[in-house]
Amino acid sequence: MSEQLEKDFDIKKLTTFKIGGKIKKVFFPKDIDEFEYILNNNPKIQVFGNLSNTLISSDGYEGTIILTTKMDSIKIKGTKVIADAGVKGPMLAKTVAQAGLSGFEFMIGFPGSVGGEVYMNASANSQAISDNLVCATCYCPDKGIHKLTREELEFDYRTSRCQKEKIIVLQAEFELKPKSKDEIQKQMDENIVFRKSHQPSLALPNCGSIFKNPPNDSAGRLLESIGAKQMSHGGVKVWENHANFIVNHNNGTSKDVLSLMYKMQQAVKKEYNIELMPEIIFLGGNNEEENKLCQKLYQKNQK
Ligand SMILES: Cc1cc2nc3c(=O)[nH]c(=O)nc-3n(C[C@H](O)[C@H](O)[C@H](O)COP(=O)(O)OP(=O)(O)OC[C@H]3O[C@@H](n4cnc5c(N)ncnc54)[C@H](O)[C@@H]3O)c2cc1C
Repeated sequence: MSEQLEKDFDIKKLTTFKIGGKIKKVFFPKDIDEFEYILNNNPKIQVFGNLSNTLISSDGYEGTIILTTKMDSIKIKGTKVIADAGVKGPMLAKTVAQAGLSGFEFMIGFPGSVGGEVYMNASANSQAISDNLVCATCYCPDKGIHKLTREELEFDYRTSRCQKEKIIVLQAEFELKPKSKDEIQKQMDENIVFRKSHQPSLALPNCGSIFKNPPNDSAGRLLESIGAKQMSHGGVKVWENHANFIVNHNNGTSKDVLSLMYKMQQAVKKEYNIELMPEIIFLGGNNEEENKLCQKLYQKNQK
């Protein structure tokens, strides 16, 4: 195998937050065979896609990761679509729209990969990736490569079985619905307009929503009510138009983000006795202060 491996890889430029130090080893597989080979030979490896939901420590990470960015094949057969884990959402949305297929209009404005979206069950504008998914080719820790159906992936709000069992997504198969290209384009245009007013663009580096919505409520509403829009820490601050986003406006660090998240979480807890759970994933481990902050922030998730 001649898989691409980068050592002491400076990850910052690849993350949508524009935060992150050096990663000891990063593999970039191009196809499923390479992906499987790397997984078989690196049991503790972690897999990431477009790093649009991940905060990486400014002090780096001493382990090994896979980035799926080179796994980018899309195949369309009638209404069936097969996409590799690294395919970016907006690219997939545009490709299927050109084929007159509806179901991915929601992906147009955010930068996730298919693998990351399945893992998180990404959703927006009343559509979710799980809606049209038939099955996914996965790497399961106990069985190796295995196909899991939509039901077996146990999707729920911002979660899937992949999170509980460390299942890696290699490829996903979808069944979409035929629709006129004009109608699909109109829906995508509307989604983009909605996004522009509700989310910061990537010109202002960010990581999407910071906290998950608690049951029957909105994290943004709770945060706004406790004055989060005025909060900041070091080089990062809460976005002035929506309180559930943190933007990196002045060379912020991962510690800045985690400290601000903790301040936000504590303020909501004090006012409402609700513990907001982070939606974003943290990768680090080298910095003791960050490790302590993470323990407090992600406490409930770790139980
Ligand atoms: C501006 C902006 C807007 C956003 N809007 C939305 C939105 O409207 N709705 C929404 O749901 N999200 C949104 N997000 C968040 C993010 O894009 C999604 O969560 C997306 O699904 C993450 O995909 P990724 O490839 O970037 O994941 P990464 O950040 O690379 O990884 C996130 C998690 O997924 C896991 N993962 C990645 N690839 C795989 C794989 N192949 N197999 C198994 N696990 C994997 C990683 O281990 C990690 O735990 C937004 C983000 C930004 C920056």
